[in-house]
Amino acid sequence: MFLRGRSAIVTGSTSGIGLAIATALAGEGAAVTINGFGDPQAVEASRASLTEASGAQARYDPADMSQPDEIAAMVQRTAAAQGGVDILVNNAGIQHVSPIESFPPEKYEAIIAINMSSAFYAIQAALAGMKAKGWGRIISTASAHSLVASPNKAAYVMAKHGIIGLTKTAALETARDGITVNAISPGYVWTPLVEAQIPDTMRARNMTREQVMNDVLLAAQPTKAFVTPEQVAALALFLCRDEASAITGANLSMDGGWTAA
Ligand code: NAD
Repeated sequence: MFLRGRSAIVTGSTSGIGLAIATALAGEGAAVTINGFGDPQAVEASRASLTEASGAQARYDPADMSQPDEIAAMVQRTAAAQGGVDILVNNAGIQHVSPIESFPPEKYEAIIAINMSSAFYAIQAALAGMKAKGWGRIISTASAHSLVASPNKAAYVMAKHGIIGLTKTAALETARDGITVNAISPGYVWTPLVEAQIPDTMRARNMTREQVMNDVLLAAQPTKAFVTPEQVAALALFLCRDEASAITGANLSMDGGWTAA
């Protein structure tokens, strides 16, 4: 339980990768605040099981990651309730698949806000507390799309490339403060976000479900296997260890060889 006494926020953690990261942090004793949308009963069940796993009180914060003032308020509420914010995981994300010419402006703005700008505002709100303690871990879930593009995902590719610029800048600004700032870039992970983009891709490319799975999603992943949320969580957990204190400003790929090609 190497995170006993530590406090964490994981944005977008009511499902998928975020919930797996929250579970891993709680499993090592951290007090965790989860965030995101979802069925209230399911969210409460997750919160209760995180409390049980950790032994420290887990919280749920409903802040909307598209709203900078709500993000700052979430960080303040969490710091007050949990004795600071030692670990910040920027994970909330959405997707929309469309050619640039017909990309709906409201979807573009939402993806940039939720997938990229939210991390800036959360880091901005959390840094003073981390600096005061002389310890912090900031981890952002980026994507293989932080390194390479795919057609019809302009906003997502822009946001994920942007997260890496923020990661590098924040790492340099905190290099002497006991804080590390890194990104994890998974390939395709089997979560609701991936499942939800199958119908849009079927329409955009005029393909069957099987063709989307094999020829689009796993086409780029040489292992031909989805990454699991638990694998991403295990790397996030490692970044919280003292042994990882020299890793900062890094974009760590976990993509079954996708970006090696
Ligand atoms: P998911 O849909 O299971 O989870 C997304 C989470 O974000 C949910 O908890 C959702 O409620 C939350 N969320 C969405 N909009 C929000 C908002 N406005 N405010 C607060 N929370 C909000 O998806 P996932 O696959 O677990 O994705 C998590 C992260 O991992 C995203 O940043 C995604 O881009 C990234 N990622 C996913 C994959 C993949 O293949 N699944 C690959 C690489 C990167």
